Amino acid sequence: MVKKKTLEKKKKKKCEDVKPPFTEKELIERLKKHFPEAKTELKFKNVFELLVAVLLSAQTTDKKVNEVTPKLFEKYPTPEALANAPIEDLYEILKPINFYRKKAERLKEISRILVERYNGKVPDTLEELVKLPGIGRKTASVILVNGFGKPAIVVDTHVKRVSKRLGLTCHDDPEKIEQDLAKFFSKENWAYISNALVLFGRYICTAKNPKCKECYLLDICPYDKKNL
Ligand code: SF4
Repeated sequence: MVKKKTLEKKKKKKCEDVKPPFTEKELIERLKKHFPEAKTELKFKNVFELLVAVLLSAQTTDKKVNEVTPKLFEKYPTPEALANAPIEDLYEILKPINFYRKKAERLKEISRILVERYNGKVPDTLEELVKLPGIGRKTASVILVNGFGKPAIVVDTHVKRVSKRLGLTCHDDPEKIEQDLAKFFSKENWAYISNALVLFGRYICTAKNPKCKECYLLDICPYDKKNL
């Protein structure tokens, strides 16, 4: 017991020592050179379409989602239409997507709630968005940032990994990572950094074999297992 407490204390101490060796300005400037207009790669024409696309993208690539959504949105363009869609038809359209059955049912359910409680509109606050079934903080933040242009911090698998490697956080818990990022970055940069870190993690600081040799953060990155 005593040993466990000592270990926890040590971990906490180590965690408090984690600090990025660069400033917010330095990091943003470098990222902006490569991702001047960082935004989600999901295709959508309105916030409802964005919500649908983000839900479909769980454990599926954005590319795959973008392949099926044009047909889905053409046939069922509104929450009302989607709420009344025959489930078998949704299964058919969404078949290329992982967990398409569950996702089709979820989309119908959310659409019904949007019609019944929100007058067919997607709510624009984190508090209301997370009340919808299957929408957690991450999904809600993607919608706020990309659909409403509101400040929020998205912590997905890429942001989590990149933030740890860059010394922006020492935590694994997404909410704690979100808090660390919210402290480090000024609010006006939250939306930008959310999308930029996703793209940076997807294309440069990848989970396996990060592209450290061509990385434009190499000289300021504190990660000790660089792929050089
Ligand atoms: S140097 Fe490597 S580990 Fe560090 S941010 Fe770049 S890609 Fe990631």
